[in-house]
Amino acid sequence: MNRRQTIPKELRFTIQQFNERFPDDAACLDALMRLRFPGGIAYCEKCEQDRKHYRIEGRPVFSCAYCGTQVSPMAGTIFHKSTTSLRLWFYAMYLMASTRCGISAKQIQRETGVTYKTAWRMFKQIRSLLSETDMRLEGLLVEMDESYFGAKRKRGEKRGRPSKDSSKQCVVGVVERGVGTGRVLATVATDATKSTLHSIAKERILPESVVFTDEYASYNGLEGEGYTHRRINHSAGVYVMGDVHTNTIEGFWSLVKRGITGVYHNVGKGYLQSYLDEYSFRYNRRDRGNLIFNDVFARVSERAVERPAARGRRMQTV
Ligand SMILES: [Zn+2]
Repeated sequence: MNRRQTIPKELRFTIQQFNERFPDDAACLDALMRLRFPGGIAYCEKCEQDRKHYRIEGRPVFSCAYCGTQVSPMAGTIFHKSTTSLRLWFYAMYLMASTRCGISAKQIQRETGVTYKTAWRMFKQIRSLLSETDMRLEGLLVEMDESYFGAKRKRGEKRGRPSKDSSKQCVVGVVERGVGTGRVLATVATDATKSTLHSIAKERILPESVVFTDEYASYNGLEGEGYTHRRINHSAGVYVMGDVHTNTIEGFWSLVKRGITGVYHNVGKGYLQSYLDEYSFRYNRRDRGNLIFNDVFARVSERAVERPAARGRRMQTV
């Protein structure tokens, strides 16, 4: 079976299609204009009223027809003040959206000739758009599990409470089961104590859900939080018992770990959350095929920091 053919036609966005849609910087800028100011810019901050705006030829700005105040669609976005071409930014977003296992700064450096530092910074900026901190699971069947990233656990080191000098990082994940949902939320956690795990559960899992975990003691008492708690006894060598298992979340952990070791080799503690965000963002949109690019692109505007000069009336209501 050719895996590339498994994406239905309507969900494909091939590199050829990308090149046709964004042949150059001007095309990218037009798309950004439409995204940030749908229907054009109506309001001028300086005039404090609706004004006609004109596109200034050869420059990435609109200008108020009355007072000449200029509005850039890049202001407040990750592209703001960047000297890297807009098309390269778009290409980096395309790569990040269309890979399954992650994309390295090295690769874009090789393909486009930008410096490694530039490539790395672009990916860092794009990744910063992908967090879903305000997302809450809606499914009522939820698997929960914690995992460890970084250095291997030292011999004799206990699960859950890494020793002070340990460089491994605890992450906690919850994933919905079910068709059409199946979204994941993964968070870097300070530890895997009962209070940490319980507060993550309460924050992210709807009350009265069925929560599947393994036998780890920190999950004790989830019943008391209002959940139906089903556990699988991994230490006894049991991994699936009817519908009781944590295979979905464990599958996600292995996807991220394969990606991080295969593509990024190593991820510093301070960056782990952003990599989890990147993998979760794609995982949560896996039925969108290559159209994930559009979702990443939409975030450019959704996550833009508003600056007075960039604010049209439409954006004030967002
Ligand atoms: Zn004006």
